[in-house]
Amino acid sequence: MADIRLEGVGHSYDGGTTWALKPMTWTWRTSRAYALLGPSGCGKTTLLNIISGLITPTVGRIFFDDRDVTDVPTAGRNIAQVFQFPVLYEEMSVYDNLAFPLRNRKYPKNEIDQRVRQVSQLLGLDHLLRRRSRRLDPGRQQIVSLGRGLVRSQVAAVLLDEPLTVVDPALKWTLRSKLKEIHRDTGHTLIYVTHDQTEALTFADEVVVLNDGAIMQAGEPAELFLSPSHEFVGHFIGSPGMNMVPGEIVGDVVRVGQAAVGSVANDLPPGPVRIGVRPEFVQITHASPGVAAQVTGIDRMGAYDLVHTRVGEHPVIARTEAGSGYQPDVEAFLRFPPDRTFLFRDQVRCGFL
Ligand code: ATP
Repeated sequence: MADIRLEGVGHSYDGGTTWALKPMTWTWRTSRAYALLGPSGCGKTTLLNIISGLITPTVGRIFFDDRDVTDVPTAGRNIAQVFQFPVLYEEMSVYDNLAFPLRNRKYPKNEIDQRVRQVSQLLGLDHLLRRRSRRLDPGRQQIVSLGRGLVRSQVAAVLLDEPLTVVDPALKWTLRSKLKEIHRDTGHTLIYVTHDQTEALTFADEVVVLNDGAIMQAGEPAELFLSPSHEFVGHFIGSPGMNMVPGEIVGDVVRVGQAAVGSVANDLPPGPVRIGVRPEFVQITHASPGVAAQVTGIDRMGAYDLVHTRVGEHPVIARTEAGSGYQPDVEAFLRFPPDRTFLFRDQVRCGFL
């Protein structure tokens, strides 16, 4: 296992006109479980394929610890990769499919048997070991593919590209926790690509948020939720995402329209800002003090309510306990708590209340 270091790595599919991955420097640290999270087309698969050697980057170098592997083909990188759809030998049994990567690398027979049985038991495949793979449904086949990716104890990294897409939704939670268990056991460096924030946040030690070919922020799930450093992360993580309200700094006071929402906690020049606060932290009340808002609708979510409001022209959502009693068209008052309210300029966080 090794640290995987990207130095100025970028990729363009069209000779440099556009960059699917903008040149970046970044290290994946050994034995950590990462989620690589971002919307469709942001460059996740390109980045994964550069690590595995399926793509040679247009610029930059890749190192596994101090070894420069930029020109080393996939077979020489000792990487296990699991794709979105099953990749199996259909005529082989489940056992032989799982054993294949180990036999290929000449693991001792007893270790092969031990690893196959361990992984199959964890993934709930132990009763299917003798079954031909083509006789399994696509969801089960994908779980076998996952097992093939995880069966080797000695790999530089395991790369998982949206591995649970074809798996029954009810099984996904279980499989994610099994994956974590296997990770704890093997200490593999895992990179798990997904566009689903729940998948990323529940799985990873560290989430790397990618957008438009660039890393926006990386951190532990709670850090990304509580302290986004970029507007994109505020929007993309959370359900619904962070409220963003145009405001203005006058002296050390942050205003929305004529209403003061708080004092700036750090030194910032006056002028326009965007005020970011998550629905979970907006405090809404029927009476002042606070910024006056108009309630425009309520989503009753069962466990909680989402109260939709407007401050002037700008929508702000507040999450409240279920049965909060707000009705459309009534007036409400909003408070934006210090420590949970951030200020952004040019989409980048520049301060807080
Ligand atoms: P998805 O979640 O939809 O798989 P992604 O985040 O994995 O997307 P990539 O598949 O890496 O994104 O694609 C990044 C960008 O590169 C996209 O604009 C895509 O259209 C483009 N792209 C990907 N593969 C190729 C290719 N072989 N030739 C040309 N452009 C490509």
